Amino acid sequence: MPRDADSPLIVDTHMHLGPCDGFDLNVEEAQIAAVLDEGAVDAVIVQPFPGAPDAAAVHDRIAALARRYPQRVFGIASINPHLGEAVYLDEVRRCVTELGFVGLKLHTIGHAVNPQHRAGRMVFEAAAQLGVPAMVHTGTGAPFALPSMVLPVARDYPELPIVLAHAGYAMYTPEAMAVASVSPSLYLETSWSTSLQLGGMVKSLGAERVMYGSDLLANIPVELAKYHSIVTDREQLRQTLGGTAQRVFGLELGQAA
Ligand SMILES: [Zn+2]
Repeated sequence: MPRDADSPLIVDTHMHLGPCDGFDLNVEEAQIAAVLDEGAVDAVIVQPFPGAPDAAAVHDRIAALARRYPQRVFGIASINPHLGEAVYLDEVRRCVTELGFVGLKLHTIGHAVNPQHRAGRMVFEAAAQLGVPAMVHTGTGAPFALPSMVLPVARDYPELPIVLAHAGYAMYTPEAMAVASVSPSLYLETSWSTSLQLGGMVKSLGAERVMYGSDLLANIPVELAKYHSIVTDREQLRQTLGGTAQRVFGLELGQAA
């Protein structure tokens, strides 16, 4: 998609690399590179799919892609917490401290994790310890994926930024908005929500609580069209397309060539 020279920086906060046994998907480096090379977005935050047969191997692939695209590719660690505390903590620590990843993903449906149970709380505790935000899959996969499942944990870790991925996935977006309205550390990543809901999120919570994400490469133009159609205020567009993500994940960004 061609972009104006003065268009705001776009950070795609939800992108996957590698294979997924669970959802029967696969994304290769070349596909993400093409998106970056054509300048459809300026930066991407990439994570393994929850059904990755070897999440650590995908973490290494993300780190390699980040070396190819400095300040444009960032990583989020996603590994099944049910593999056990030692395996989980070793790998997420490696991702953040050695590979420079900027967040941890809790996949409620893909990894069968209730955010309030022991395995779920381990993810938030690790994120808080490592000083990176936690991103939580919400929407499909209720009840674990209900946005409200995050609320007790958000209260226990008030300093930890928590990103509700998919902002409740249209069906539960009103709940995501309600939860975010009472918990200031929650942010909404809006992939798969409706355009009307996007407008409502920006209006009721403020642009600084809302961030663009696509989840799947083919969904990038669809999600961007929602923003350009609904978010007409230029400063709000700048915030939601990149500013919120830059601040929440602490990104040092370069611009698309
Ligand atoms: Zn996803």
